[in-house]
Amino acid sequence: MTDRCRRIAIIGAGFSGTTLAIQLLRRVTTPTEILLIDRSGVFGLGLAYSTTNRDHLLNVHAGRMSLFPDEPDHFLSWLKLTNHPAANDADLAHAFLPRADYGKYLQDSLAAAVKAAPLNVRIELITGEVATLDSGEHHTAIGLSDGRTLIADQAVLCLGNPIPYLPARYDDTASLAGRVVDDPWTTDALQRIRPDDQVALIGSGLTMIDIVIDLAGRGHRGTLHAVSRHGLLPNAHAASHAYTIDAFDIPGTIRGQLRWMRAHVAKAAGAGIDWRAVIDAVRPHIQLFWRALSKSERKRFLRHCRAYWDVHRHRTAPAVAARIDALRTSGQLTVTAGRIAKIECTADKIALSIAPRGEASERTLDVDWILNCTGPTSHYAKGPDRLVRDLLDSGTIRLDGLGLGFDIAPDGKAITKEGPPSSRLYALGPPTRGVLWEITAVPDIRIQCAALAENLATDFG
Ligand SMILES: Cc1cc2nc3c(=O)[nH]c(=O)nc-3n(C[C@H](O)[C@H](O)[C@H](O)COP(=O)(O)OP(=O)(O)OC[C@H]3O[C@@H](n4cnc5c(N)ncnc54)[C@H](O)[C@@H]3O)c2cc1C
Repeated sequence: MTDRCRRIAIIGAGFSGTTLAIQLLRRVTTPTEILLIDRSGVFGLGLAYSTTNRDHLLNVHAGRMSLFPDEPDHFLSWLKLTNHPAANDADLAHAFLPRADYGKYLQDSLAAAVKAAPLNVRIELITGEVATLDSGEHHTAIGLSDGRTLIADQAVLCLGNPIPYLPARYDDTASLAGRVVDDPWTTDALQRIRPDDQVALIGSGLTMIDIVIDLAGRGHRGTLHAVSRHGLLPNAHAASHAYTIDAFDIPGTIRGQLRWMRAHVAKAAGAGIDWRAVIDAVRPHIQLFWRALSKSERKRFLRHCRAYWDVHRHRTAPAVAARIDALRTSGQLTVTAGRIAKIECTADKIALSIAPRGEASERTLDVDWILNCTGPTSHYAKGPDRLVRDLLDSGTIRLDGLGLGFDIAPDGKAITKEGPPSSRLYALGPPTRGVLWEITAVPDIRIQCAALAENLATDFG
């Protein structure tokens, strides 16, 4: 071991970066400085947990949301310490709590880890946008957009999903273009929407649901038109007995995997167990299922199955689903399956032309707003992110074979354009989706964070 202080830079302080920092603070024993960098100036919330709307609920129950794979009750213990008003432990474990509470848990856990870290392990929280990264033989130089340069021994990309953009063209010089909102999370658009405005929401997944819940909570009265290619909404969670699958003999084709899954759903149904329990039983092994598929089989899944898989796998809290059902029943929320054909901004309305699925002619909706709710995209290469462009252009990283994110080696090292893994650069979380597929939610990302922290803690000598 050496006494030299090494520096590990974590770029992005959402769930992935913050959890990695906490894990490093707990595991590292040699002199180390951790640089946790985020352009937002907020540490520990990221996109998912920065909402202050208490109707935005976790879509995973509290019992599965611990930061630590080896301490499954950690979140529940924190909730009890903060006097969460649940009737009993079982109720608490099965509750779908506000995402804002989870953000507080993350920030409290970071503060606790900083306090408990050995004296020779320090963390610095740095506000700044990383624009360039030069990973050389001896160190990594991290360039911030304000001109600062930080030097680190290792760097970890925890960048989250790329900035969303609307999958349709429109005339952005038109006067109403400001009402076509590419990223509903980062604008004050929702505050500007008047209660009787007609709103089109492109996408019908969890992002659409968040936005509808938000608007409904503000007393919105106008019609909300959700449009997506398949018109499918996420299923709701429902209580069920657990289902267990003992042995995994994983088929190598998507057709074989679907057949396998259907057989288990039928077997579960025969025992009075809900299909959701089968997905929950398979879920910890989904990365293995993905790895078993060839590139062409993975493409087949993305083309034919993804939309159906997503609405079964990514489910909503029952209370949220009930509110969405009520809005649909009242007619205030409509859902159309179709493709966006055209967007035209007229004098006082936006004309949204839709080619409905299975219909020959287009339909036009006159709306006051179009909100892009297509959710997290995978278009890292096409997005405006300066750092990602710099990394791809310099060959420091490359996209995975499907272009869903960054290519990584099994130990998390970013793979360079030339092929060998980088010796100093790693990637975590959603950008590694192409390699792992199931790396969207806390129960999966926390395992990846713990493994990388262990690796970084032990490999420095
Ligand atoms: C709305 C929503 C709700 C969700 N709900 C749940 C749930 O209930 N349960 C669950 O298990 N999972 C949920 N998830 C999934 C989940 O937990 C996340 O996707 C996870 O938070 C990913 O965290 P991340 O840190 O990788 O990305 P992000 O949270 O997006 O954080 C990335 C961070 O990197 C920073 N950054 C990016 N580029 C740069 C740069 N160049 N320089 C400096 N900083 C940069 C950003 O500012 C950001 O803070 C949800 C996801 C979303 C989007």
